Amino acid sequence: MPGRILIIDTVATNRIVLKVKMLAAQFAVDACATQAEAIDIISANRPDLILMNLSDAVEAKHSLCRDLRRSPQTATISIIAVGVADTSQARFAALDAGADEVLPHPMNDALLLARIRSLLRVRSTNEELQLREGTSRALGFEERKAAFDGAAKIAVLSIGAPKKRNLASNLRQALRSKIHCLRPSDVLKSDNASVTHDLFVIDAARAEEGQGGLFGLVSDLRARIQTRLTMQLVVVPDNRPEIAAMFLDLGADDVVPHTSDATEITLRAKRLIARKRQHDRLRDTVRNGLNAAVTDPLTGLFNRRYVEPHLARLAEQSRKSGRELAVMMIDIDHFKAVNDTHGHAAGDKVLVELADRLRQNLRAIDLVARMGGEEFLVAMPGTSVTDARLAADRLRALVNTTPFDLGDNQPALKITVSVGVAVSGQFNAETAAINKICDQADKALYAAKSAGRDQVAMSKSAA
Ligand code: GH3
Ligand code: MG
Ligand code: MG
Repeated sequence: MPGRILIIDTVATNRIVLKVKMLAAQFAVDACATQAEAIDIISANRPDLILMNLSDAVEAKHSLCRDLRRSPQTATISIIAVGVADTSQARFAALDAGADEVLPHPMNDALLLARIRSLLRVRSTNEELQLREGTSRALGFEERKAAFDGAAKIAVLSIGAPKKRNLASNLRQALRSKIHCLRPSDVLKSDNASVTHDLFVIDAARAEEGQGGLFGLVSDLRARIQTRLTMQLVVVPDNRPEIAAMFLDLGADDVVPHTSDATEITLRAKRLIARKRQHDRLRDTVRNGLNAAVTDPLTGLFNRRYVEPHLARLAEQSRKSGRELAVMMIDIDHFKAVNDTHGHAAGDKVLVELADRLRQNLRAIDLVARMGGEEFLVAMPGTSVTDARLAADRLRALVNTTPFDLGDNQPALKITVSVGVAVSGQFNAETAAINKICDQADKALYAAKSAGRDQVAMSKSAA
C-alpha cells in the first residue's frame, strides 16, 4: 500500500536520514525545511501522510497542523509528529493540534513504519467508504440523518489482575460511559451479535511477561464477525517499541504506553470512538443505499448499475493520487455445463457460494460485484501489478481447490474460474478512464479462456 510522504524538518541531516528510510520502505517522498515550503508542496503534490518534526518552531507547526485539519482539501492527510519532547504535556499538545500520532525522540524505526502503515490503512478505509457514500448519493439515494449516537460501549480486556488498576474507572469518569471489565475468553466465546462494543481497551502492559497470547487476541478479535469492527486501543509496556509495533501490525487501531496519564489515554479512546461512529454512519448510508436497484438479489453483491459510476470515481481517485487501481474480471469456466448437467438450481448455488468466497477473502475496501450471468468484477484500490496477480491467483485457488456443495446429497462439484487482470497505474492519465481498464481486464479474461481456462492472465499493459 505504498503512498506519498512529506517530511518537514529544519535539520538537513534528519531529512536525509528519514527520506532514505521511507524510500527503502517503497514510499514516494518529498522533504522540506519550512512551513512555507510545505504548503507549496502539499498543494502541488498532495501527500498521504506528513512526518513533521516538532522539536523546534512548535507553535508555528501546531498552527500548520490546525490549518491542515481545517481545510477540506487537506483534512484527511495523516500527520505524525516526530521529535516531540517525551512528556505527556507535549504529546497531548501535538495530538490536540491535530496530529494523528506522536513519536517521541529517539524514534524507533519499526514503530514508525507500523504507525505509518496503520494510518494509511485507516485512510484507505475512510476514502473508500466516502466514495461509496458518494456513489449512493449520485444514484439518487438520500443520505440518512445520523442516528442518535448514545453512550459508547467500551470493554476493558485484561488477563489476570489489570496492571493499570484505575484504567476502567478513569475511562468511566472521562467518557461518562459504562465500562465492562472482561476476560478475553468472554468476548471470544460470545456468539451473541447484539453485544457489539465500540471500543476494546486491551491491557497488554504485561505482554512480555508470558502473556504473549495477547498478540493472538488482537488478530482474533479482528477476524470475528462480532468484534471485527470494534476499535482496539492496546495499553503496551513502556519503552518496548517493538511490542507496540507488533500490535499495530496485527491490527490494533492505536497503542498507548501504560504509564501515560489518564488525559492521553482518554483522548485516544475518544478519537477511536469518534472514528468508529464515523465508520458506522458511512456504512449505514452505504447499506441503506444498497436497495434492490443496485444489488443482485441472488448473491447480494453490487450489480453493474452500481459498479459503473463507482468505478469511474475510483479511476479518478487513482489518477489524482497516482496510486494504482487493479480491476479483475472473473468468469466461471463451462458454467453452461453446470446448468445442463445439474440443473439451474445447482447453478444458482454455485453462484451464491462463489460470491461468498470472493467476499470473505478480499479486503473491506475491495469492491466485489456480479456483472451479470457468471461474471464477477473485483476492484482493488492501491494495488500494484504484483499484488493484483497474487490476489488473482489466490482467488483462483480458492475456487479450484475446494469443490462446491450442491446440497440434496449430490456430490460436491469441482469448479474453476478464469481471471483477467488490468492495473490502472500502467496507463497514462488520459487512458486511465475506467472503460479502458475494464476493456483491458476483459481482453485478459478472453486470453485466459483461450489459453485453456482455470488460469489468470494479466493485461498486456500490466504484464
Ligand atoms: P466459458 O468457460 O467460456 O465461460 O463457458 P460458459 O459455459 O461458462 O459460458 P457461456 O457464456 O456459454 O454460458 C454462461 C451460462 O451461464 C449460460 C447461462 O444459462 C448461465 N447463467 C447466467 N446467469 C445465470 C443464473 O443466474 N443462474 C444460473 N444457474 N445460470 C446462469
Ligand atoms: Mg463462463
Ligand atoms: Mg461468461
